[in-house]
Amino acid sequence: MPKHLNDAASVSGSSTSTDNSSSRKRKRPSSKKTNGGGSKRLDAADDDDATPAKKPFSDKHHLVANGHRRNSTSKAARDPLDEARAVAVRQPAPPVVDHDGLSRAAKGTRTRLQETPEQAAARMEKMRGAVRTLLECVGEDPDREGLLDTPSRYAKAMLFFTKGYQVNVDDLVNNALFNEGHNEMIVVKDIEVHSLCEHHLVPFNGKMHIGYIPRNTVIGLSKLPRIAEMYARRLQVQERLTKEVANAVMDILKPQGVAVVMESSHLCMVMRGVEQTSTSTITSCVLGCFERKSKTRNEFLSLVGINR
Ligand SMILES: [Zn+2]
Repeated sequence: MPKHLNDAASVSGSSTSTDNSSSRKRKRPSSKKTNGGGSKRLDAADDDDATPAKKPFSDKHHLVANGHRRNSTSKAARDPLDEARAVAVRQPAPPVVDHDGLSRAAKGTRTRLQETPEQAAARMEKMRGAVRTLLECVGEDPDREGLLDTPSRYAKAMLFFTKGYQVNVDDLVNNALFNEGHNEMIVVKDIEVHSLCEHHLVPFNGKMHIGYIPRNTVIGLSKLPRIAEMYARRLQVQERLTKEVANAVMDILKPQGVAVVMESSHLCMVMRGVEQTSTSTITSCVLGCFERKSKTRNEFLSLVGINR
C-alpha cells in the first residue's frame, strides 16, 4: 500500500491515490465473503481521469495525486469546478441520496426513468442515428453487412451500461435492513465494478471494497454490491463513484462509519493518452468512525488487503 493513501486517509475523509513510483505486486488475503483476492499491480500515471475532480460535497474530500492535466479535447467537457480545484473549498454537503433514486440527477434522467414505451422507442431510434453518424465519421460504411445492426446493438449496450439511472435506491434496498444489534465491522470486498468514464465514454473496471460498522442496523449483504452497481452504471469518475457509494451507505444505514476503497484500471489511460497498460488508480472515502479512528481505518485497510 502506498504510504500516502494511509497518510491522506488519516487527515481527511477521502483520498485518491495515483502512484507511479511503484509497480510491486501485492498479495491479498482471501475473503470468505467474495471471490478472493489476487495480486495487483499498483502504479499509475498522469491522466486527466486520474486527476482528482473537485466536487460539491467534498468537504471531507482530500486528494493525493501527482498528476498534471494534459491538454486534450476532453478538457472542454470537464466540470468547470475543476478550474477551481487548486483552491480547497469547504462547502456544506448537499443531500447525497435523494430518495427518488435520481441522485445527481441530470437533465433528462427523470425523463428516462419515467418514459413510456413510445418514448423509449424514439430514444432508441435517436441513438441508432447517432451511432450511424459516428460510424460514418470514422470513415466506415454503416451499410456494409458487418455494421448493419451495430447502431442497434451499441444503443442497447449503452443503455445497459447506464441502467443505474433507472434504479431507485429505495427500491434497491427494499427493506433489507435488519435490527441485529450487531456493532462490529462488516466488510464486503472484491466487488467487481464496471463503469464508464464520463470524459471518454470508455470503461473503467476494478474492484470495490465496502466496510461499515453498524449502529444496530445491518443491511442484507447482497445489497452492498447492488448499491455499488447502481452508481457504477452511470457515467462516472472513480473519485465520485467511491464517494457516492460511501455516502449512500451512510445515508441508508446511519452506521457508526463507512469506508469504501476502489482500485481500478481505466481504458482511457490504457488504450489512449499515456497508454499505461498496468496502472491502477486507488480512491478511498472514509466516513464517521473510519475517519476519526486510525485503528479502525487500518483494520479495514488490512482486511481488504490494502494496508501493508
Ligand atoms: Zn477517461
